[in-house]
Amino acid sequence: MGYLKTTTIRGNDYNFPIYLPDATRAVARSLDSEDLKKSKIEGVVVNTYHLMSEPGTPILETVGGVKKFMNWDGLVVSDSGGFQVFSLIYQDPKFGKISDAEVTFYKSSKGEKRKYHFTPERSIQVQFVLGSDIIICLDDVPSVNAKEDQVRLSVKRTIEWAKRCKEEFAKQLQSRKMDHKNRPLLLAVIQGGDFLHLREECAQELIKIGFDAFGYGGFPMDEQGNFRTETLKFVAGLMPDDKPKFALGVGTPQDIVEGFKMGYNIFDCVLPTRDARHQRLSVLSKDPKTLDVLHEPVFNYLNMNREKFVKDSGPISEYCDCFTCQNYSRAYLHHLFKIEEFTAGRLASIHNLRTYTKIIELLRATLA
Ligand SMILES: [Zn+2]
Repeated sequence: MGYLKTTTIRGNDYNFPIYLPDATRAVARSLDSEDLKKSKIEGVVVNTYHLMSEPGTPILETVGGVKKFMNWDGLVVSDSGGFQVFSLIYQDPKFGKISDAEVTFYKSSKGEKRKYHFTPERSIQVQFVLGSDIIICLDDVPSVNAKEDQVRLSVKRTIEWAKRCKEEFAKQLQSRKMDHKNRPLLLAVIQGGDFLHLREECAQELIKIGFDAFGYGGFPMDEQGNFRTETLKFVAGLMPDDKPKFALGVGTPQDIVEGFKMGYNIFDCVLPTRDARHQRLSVLSKDPKTLDVLHEPVFNYLNMNREKFVKDSGPISEYCDCFTCQNYSRAYLHHLFKIEEFTAGRLASIHNLRTYTKIIELLRATLA
């Protein structure tokens, strides 16, 4: 079996690979849904934990889910929120506590300290309220430097919680009268840190329980900022080839190319929008018509705060067909950043996202 090129979810076909920007709080920062479409973005990742605290599930239920809320008709994947919650609690226990039964999380909002109970069941219920196309099981995310004992515990919990998530998922399908045509997919995350035998055990158990898609859990980068090539490759090999493989949190355009070669289909990362707000632009390394995407470096960074751009009337990238490059100069963008104008982040984000989708297009072309 080869690379999965396409999948149908709720009657819509999605081509792989696919890159999804993070719309953590139901917005890809500084962009609206039209801007996303301008950049040829086909889907986003929202965050369950953030959305259940703000605006909260009752409001999301009233407005009819996150797609209506943000005027977005593309793919919506909801992250369980485990990653954020666990990284905070493992860093400092004052943020909450974790038990086999649930996660208790303390959050201060406008001077008021609020307590949230997060269970696998609750996470699934909220993701149904969001109206996601791909629902992600709540998992236990060990800290980046966790020892083997702690990672083993995280794997055990991830498996137990995935079972509970699947049971709750089945209940929701029944009560909402959803069938295989209009139901979302349920994705389980494979944990195990860099301990390959734990990754293997986690994958085997999750495959036995049965899920529609699988994800790479934990940090894709090590503490030195290096891509965890060996672990990522090993985990991709553990996942069934006929189901979507999601490399959560990956990565730079080059990382996405590497992930694609390993067999991953879905990527999400905050980098292009975050970089854009900090004047860091990704540009294709050469004309996409002659770029050998699988074997040549695919991109370079361009920093807009460089003085040499003050009078530069050219576009950010001569190889880019994005809205920003078609209409605005480097000089204008440099100026907008200099005066700290919001529009700078928007125009730069539109460009960076288009660089990602262009690379995705080139990767898809290698499958034809
Ligand atoms: Zn551009």
